[in-house]
Amino acid sequence: MLYYLFITQNIFGIQPSPIPIQQIVLAFVLAILISLVSYKFNFLKFSGMLTVFVMAFIIFSLGGWKWTLPMVTFFILSNLISKYKKLIIPGDDLSEKSERRDTTQVLANGGFATLLLIANFFITSELLYLAYVSSIAVVCADTWETEIGTLIKGNTFDILRFNLVQPGISGGISAAGTMGGLAGAFTVAISSLYWINKNHFLFTLVVAATGIIGSVIDSIIGAAFQRKNICLKCRSVTEKSVHCQTSTQIFSGINWLNNDAVNFAAASFGGIFSILITELIFI
Ligand SMILES: [Zn+2]
Repeated sequence: MLYYLFITQNIFGIQPSPIPIQQIVLAFVLAILISLVSYKFNFLKFSGMLTVFVMAFIIFSLGGWKWTLPMVTFFILSNLISKYKKLIIPGDDLSEKSERRDTTQVLANGGFATLLLIANFFITSELLYLAYVSSIAVVCADTWETEIGTLIKGNTFDILRFNLVQPGISGGISAAGTMGGLAGAFTVAISSLYWINKNHFLFTLVVAATGIIGSVIDSIIGAAFQRKNICLKCRSVTEKSVHCQTSTQIFSGINWLNNDAVNFAAASFGGIFSILITELIFI
């Protein structure tokens, strides 16, 4: 790893800040801890556990607590809310993402943020940190929106067609879900405030606004283009490929555009959008 850094340094002529060996050791221990515990509690599938290990190791060793805390806050709280929801409402979920997370789901949520952190290692910028936190705020808002929207069953509308849909389906919005999303975006913003030197209020505002706008974009893409399936047995529209123990068939949307692709697009949008509004409006 250190050899690799030495090489990149020479090629690009950039000085990455050296990582203390204690931080690498601590990153390794924490990455094992968080991936194993999450696997034990059924938050993750085996492939998801390996991906979380690699991602946590990269994030902590390159970014320390500053970059780890927002991601871990999102990850742990979201999983606890999902667990709580399953205790209250056991059984059927319509959304793909309510299952235990695998590699693609982990990358869809945290992949773009991790790329921003790696970029920051070479070109340090507080704007990259803002984009990182904002990208996590989008996926956190999106996750909490779905979980809390399903937990407190209120009227859920399709964001584009305004007709009533079942809570939990992609593209559906409800008052409770939107409040949950807002809470998620604020929680991620607050988890990073310790490392923000000035303009705490503006930072929180940009992150929370980006989180909500990003999750609305997620819902719009979800409603307009995401693949939805229909269960031939019970006729419910679902994102799952298997329902009532039978394979579902495509009902609407683009064949390859699943929930993971939509989440990744929304998370990337959030990162870029937060930089754009900060540059355009506040500076
Ligand atoms: Zn069914």
